[in-house]
Amino acid sequence: MLINMKPDATQKEITHVIERIKECGYQAHTIQGNERTVIGAVGLNGRGAELEALQAAPGVETVVPITHPFKLVSRQLRPRGTVIDVGKVRLGGGDPVVIAGPCSVESREQLLETARAVKAAGANMLRGGAYKPRTSPYDFQGLGIEALEFLKKARAETGLPVVTEVMSETDVDVVAEYADVLQVGARNMQNFSLLRILAQVPRPILLKRRPSATVKEWLLAAEYLLSGGNERVVLCERGIKTFETETRNTLDLSAIALVKELSHLPVLADPSHGTGRRSLVPAMSKAALSAGADGLIIEVHPCPERALSDGPQSLDLPSFAGLMRELRLLPIATPVGEAA
Ligand code: PEP
Ligand code: MN
Repeated sequence: MLINMKPDATQKEITHVIERIKECGYQAHTIQGNERTVIGAVGLNGRGAELEALQAAPGVETVVPITHPFKLVSRQLRPRGTVIDVGKVRLGGGDPVVIAGPCSVESREQLLETARAVKAAGANMLRGGAYKPRTSPYDFQGLGIEALEFLKKARAETGLPVVTEVMSETDVDVVAEYADVLQVGARNMQNFSLLRILAQVPRPILLKRRPSATVKEWLLAAEYLLSGGNERVVLCERGIKTFETETRNTLDLSAIALVKELSHLPVLADPSHGTGRRSLVPAMSKAALSAGADGLIIEVHPCPERALSDGPQSLDLPSFAGLMRELRLLPIATPVGEAA
């Protein structure tokens, strides 16, 4: 249920409603808007009839059911949308955010060269995998802590906040120590024990959609994070499995528009994994932003033909700068290829 307080409700009235929600067996999630306070009452096995009766409590304007199975991620709760601040970067703040970098961190030089170039081209954050979820156990698995150290160095030099994947419950502490944003990869979207742990971590989570997950399942996965205490969740559409084999995945643009309707959380698009082909990345980047995405996460490598993972979908450095220019996100004063 959503309890909409009147714009002039007093703190005492708000506190009373929160206490009653708890007495009825629900958790209370308070959202302080510009005009009014909204309180979400969520949970299992509460006394619903008593909650509805709060309609008569002082300071309450309306008590309305949350119509979707996901509650805390629902746009009903925050009609204006959520902005997630990562340093100076504002995800969901209106300006598109671009996260760029290699699929895998392969060496200090590869990462620093990429970080400097994407920064000069106007990227807002740096990505790079340290722990890689690979289909084959014989493929490059990532450099682990060494890669996290390189990411730290790249952040110190460029000022770009760092996004990297946490693959397993045992790596959460170390990844959280180094990363500004923790990525949950597509394969782990419904790893509920991992999500429960990440709900307790004081870092934003980038939650990728599993290639076979419905939008409802994806939003319910995000609900695990919010209901467990982590409200800083960014969704990422990275392509789904369809009958099409010419592309690696099918970037589900309608899901981006739909999620913006259903949820208040920021949504990014990953046109690299979403297509598997570098030639399609520019068109799909523009399409995703037109569909309402709050930003993009793009794989970039100084020499894609030598990449240890996802070379065919990685842009080289000039192509990334060219895309940023097309998107009108390249900083005008900064020459391409030079660190700012
Ligand atoms: C990645 O970002 O490199 C990655 C492995 O993504 P996904 O989980 O979407 O496949
Ligand atoms: Mn990749």
